[in-house]
Amino acid sequence: MDTLLVVNAGSSSLKFEIFAVAGSLTRQIKGKLDGVGTAPHLTIKGAGGDRLADEDYPRETVPDLPAAMRLVGDWLRERHEGRLIAVGHRVVHGGPDHMRPARINDDLVRELERYTPLAPLHQPNNLAPIRAFLEHQPQLPQVACFDTAFHRGHDPMADHYAIPAHYFDEGIRRYGFHGLSYEYVAGRLAEVAPDISGRRVIVAHLGSGASMCALNRGRSVECTFGFTALDGLPMGTRCGQIDPGVLLYLLQQHGMTAVQLQDILYKESGLMGLSGTSNDVRELLASSDAGATMALDHFVHRIGLNAGLLAAALGGLDAFVFTAGVGENSPVMRTRIAEKLGWLGASLDPERNDAGELRVSNDDSKVAVYVVPTDEELMIARHTLALISA
Ligand code: ADP
Repeated sequence: MDTLLVVNAGSSSLKFEIFAVAGSLTRQIKGKLDGVGTAPHLTIKGAGGDRLADEDYPRETVPDLPAAMRLVGDWLRERHEGRLIAVGHRVVHGGPDHMRPARINDDLVRELERYTPLAPLHQPNNLAPIRAFLEHQPQLPQVACFDTAFHRGHDPMADHYAIPAHYFDEGIRRYGFHGLSYEYVAGRLAEVAPDISGRRVIVAHLGSGASMCALNRGRSVECTFGFTALDGLPMGTRCGQIDPGVLLYLLQQHGMTAVQLQDILYKESGLMGLSGTSNDVRELLASSDAGATMALDHFVHRIGLNAGLLAAALGGLDAFVFTAGVGENSPVMRTRIAEKLGWLGASLDPERNDAGELRVSNDDSKVAVYVVPTDEELMIARHTLALISA
């Protein structure tokens, strides 16, 4: 059996999936090693959701990402019987030029290293497994799938910041992220709602990271993320859109260092910062704490504001799509968000929404509202197979 490995290496977790390649792609294994460097925990599930591994490890056994890769590599070599024909990687930053996935070689890795300052918390981790495979299995084809690529068709005017123009050429521009998720959802929408997919659609990817994308005829024209994955909506621990004057104030009046500021904006803000208790929407929904209520109210408020912004970019709105952890699983949050879209003509059907049906709006809703589960790993597997078959 020929198989593909999909790798998504984050700052403290390593996600991986194996797909069997036999005409179509079939998911065989889905695994995650999280808590790297703190409380390492490995879970691996088989095709039917059966648990193949569920283990804690001492912190010193998996102190960093290379150790995580060794542990997962050992497990796969021992237990996985397929013949690995390629590896597809999620790479957060493809810079200004990559509009599609790319075959990996030493030159590409050198180029992608240049984008590390643009995504310091993610890019080095994305590149580490790529380098390891290049070193140990140089013949194995590898493909880099970029979170930025789907947004590269934007009008360059929209991707500018209003700062001196030469900074744009230096790379200080809006890139947009979550592109693999939006590409998957756009493709899925064309299958399940072909009448809608060619029109004006906002997709809301609401997970620990959260953003929204405006799709016109299936192509991204705007995204709430900008230069980094800090912009736009407030997230689990990231701040979302903020007046740059706040950063100047913190630097100048609080004497903060850049590293302190980075920690606050990436790790201590968003729902966590606002609530003071949790970055997890499920926990906040279950809490009667005033901070939890405020955090969720603010999240919903900002989603509503950004929906208006993206609807303006599209010149109107035909459909709104929920995806990712919150969007796929929480009827309550969908109801609250849809209320903010009422002025655009969206209206939910409570029963369809509670049941999590594909179409959750009522028949009279001017804006159709859908729930479309995302699958970034399958998108990476498809790209990888397409590129190595080409
Ligand atoms: P990521 O893949 O970015 O880590 P997910 O897409 O899994 O994130 O989304 C995680 C978020 O989804 C968490 O805030 C979690 O609380 C929320 N979530 C998952 N299931 C539910 C649910 N049933 N109700 C409300 N929120 C949920």
